[in-house]
Amino acid sequence: MKTKILVIEDEVKIARFLELELKHEGYEVELAHDGRSGYEKALAGDVDLIILDLMLPGLSGIEVCRRVRKESDVPIIMLTAKDDVSDKVMGLDSGADDYMTKSFAIEELLARIRVILKRRGRKDKNVILEAGPLVLYKEEYRVTFDNKEISLSKKEFELLKYLMENKGIVLTREKMLDQVWGYDYRGDTNVTDVYIKYLRTKIDQKYNVHFIHTVRGVGYLFKANEE
Ligand code: CA
Repeated sequence: MKTKILVIEDEVKIARFLELELKHEGYEVELAHDGRSGYEKALAGDVDLIILDLMLPGLSGIEVCRRVRKESDVPIIMLTAKDDVSDKVMGLDSGADDYMTKSFAIEELLARIRVILKRRGRKDKNVILEAGPLVLYKEEYRVTFDNKEISLSKKEFELLKYLMENKGIVLTREKMLDQVWGYDYRGDTNVTDVYIKYLRTKIDQKYNVHFIHTVRGVGYLFKANEE
């Protein structure tokens, strides 16, 4: 089955251009020319990736993105007319996976589509863990934030992996010790607190996010978002 890309773009010329280029690459393409119909098509269930224009009539790209994200984790690449950082932040905050300005070269867009689809395939095979911009590559012992490498020690990596695998679940220090350090660990149980602190310094504090929550008297909780 062909990979299906939904292009939500009101400017007919751009939409048509994208359709031709994507079809040429072997993708199946569906077009929507306004936010509302785009949103409906996005949730039809057979879309593998969405290219979403920011400025749309009816429902804005940001709003489409937010609404789609509530229902689906289909990858979304946001397009905007201007190279504006606030647009980028808004786009990524609303749940887009990537962002491009409209002055893009088509080769660059195609390359990003390939990267995102490859990543998605690996997510489906459960070799990567994602929490918004934070991505953990299990097999490669790599972690990135917004595609920038985060340097972690092996234990930090394993602890983060354990937290991400159990997101939304409160983990006690004992559980973390068992799973990450092993049953034969004879050191101080406070080692978990020390490593949580390392992770917070390298991720939460560095990128001004709040993934790792303290549950007083119990342990820790990894939350993928603030909602
Ligand atoms: Ca537009």
